[in-house]
Amino acid sequence: MNFRNFKMIGYVIYGRGAFNQLDEILQPNRKGQAPMIFLVDRFFEDKPFAGRVPLRGNDKIIFVDVTDEPKTTYVDKLAKDLKDEFGTVSGVIGIGGGSAMDLAKAVSLMMTNPGSSADYQGWDLVKQAGVYKVGIPTLSGTGAEVSRTTVLTGPTKKLGMNSDYTPFDQIVLDPQLTADAPANQRFYTGMDCYIHCVESLTGTYLNEFSKSYGEKALQLCRDVYVNKDGWDAESDDKLMMASYAGGMSIAYSQVGVAHAVSYGLSYLLGTKHGIGNCIVFNQLEDYYPEGVKEFKWMVEKNQIDIPKNICANLSEEDFDKMIDVSLGMKPLWENALGKNWEEQITRTTLRKLYEKL
Ligand code: NAD
Ligand code: ZN
Repeated sequence: MNFRNFKMIGYVIYGRGAFNQLDEILQPNRKGQAPMIFLVDRFFEDKPFAGRVPLRGNDKIIFVDVTDEPKTTYVDKLAKDLKDEFGTVSGVIGIGGGSAMDLAKAVSLMMTNPGSSADYQGWDLVKQAGVYKVGIPTLSGTGAEVSRTTVLTGPTKKLGMNSDYTPFDQIVLDPQLTADAPANQRFYTGMDCYIHCVESLTGTYLNEFSKSYGEKALQLCRDVYVNKDGWDAESDDKLMMASYAGGMSIAYSQVGVAHAVSYGLSYLLGTKHGIGNCIVFNQLEDYYPEGVKEFKWMVEKNQIDIPKNICANLSEEDFDKMIDVSLGMKPLWENALGKNWEEQITRTTLRKLYEKL
């Protein structure tokens, strides 16, 4: 047995208003005149929150476009522009959902590693530490704040830069920052966490470490989406910790069928991670009967729209491409169904499933 020895994030600060301590947190990490670069989700460009970013000296805010999930070309351009303008920077701070945080991780790594970020899509290909990096979520659920990956769409694949250099040096968990997110988006991203828990807790890779975090995260998701009526400050507090614990749970296990199938959707159709997982999970009664039943109840109770018939007009080649991408996610299938998963999941099974979405 070869146990995973995984690298964790450096520092964590948690609490309502913790964001106000960011200036003080950054101070000892400044290297001379080299600036701190804030990659802030474009949603905040014209919001008062942008004025709270603690700029000093030649620090810079870049409002990042997250219409599409992060691409290697975008990461490379951001890193090149920063090198051209400043030579080096003290750090990169990602403020936003999973997309803005993933951009920050990737740009930090590309400030010190040669070539294109596409060269590092895979496992343990990154050889140099990046510059100091901080993650500050404004949506809760992906677990990107704790993970050792940054998911990128490259010229040939959608795959993360998974490495010991990828986790943040610091995260700032301030639930106030998620307060104004739209209900549908908050649900899709929150359900990413719920689905992480179900996939981890029912998977064959499960161990007591993953279980401890997964059970807690699942309970927090239920508190928010099942046991409560309406949304309040406590919901933001709980979902932020659910995201953290859900991320810790999959760090030592793996996700499963919903993620394997939704990767195909996002590769072909550009479907975003949270909503894509919801579209798929909605049809997975055969694999996760209890989870899907509860999921449907949460959708109804919280009056959320889950798109349907998104594969209605696809060609044979389109289906083939999605099936190829999905079958490529071997560890996810193995976690979900065991070592003989290939006997259970054929191209025909997957084709039928995609047709239902
Ligand atoms: P997101 O970051 O893609 O953002 C979704 C939308 O919400 C965007 O339009 C954004 O502008 C908006 N938004 C963000 N914060 C807001 C706020 N407080 N109020 C209003 N709107 C807000 O969404 P996400 O679901 O957090 O992240 C999905 C991304 O995370 C995908 O790119 C996925 O690949 C990645 N991901 C990464 C990991 C990892 O471990 N690195 C894990 C899961 C998902
Ligand atoms: Zn996920």
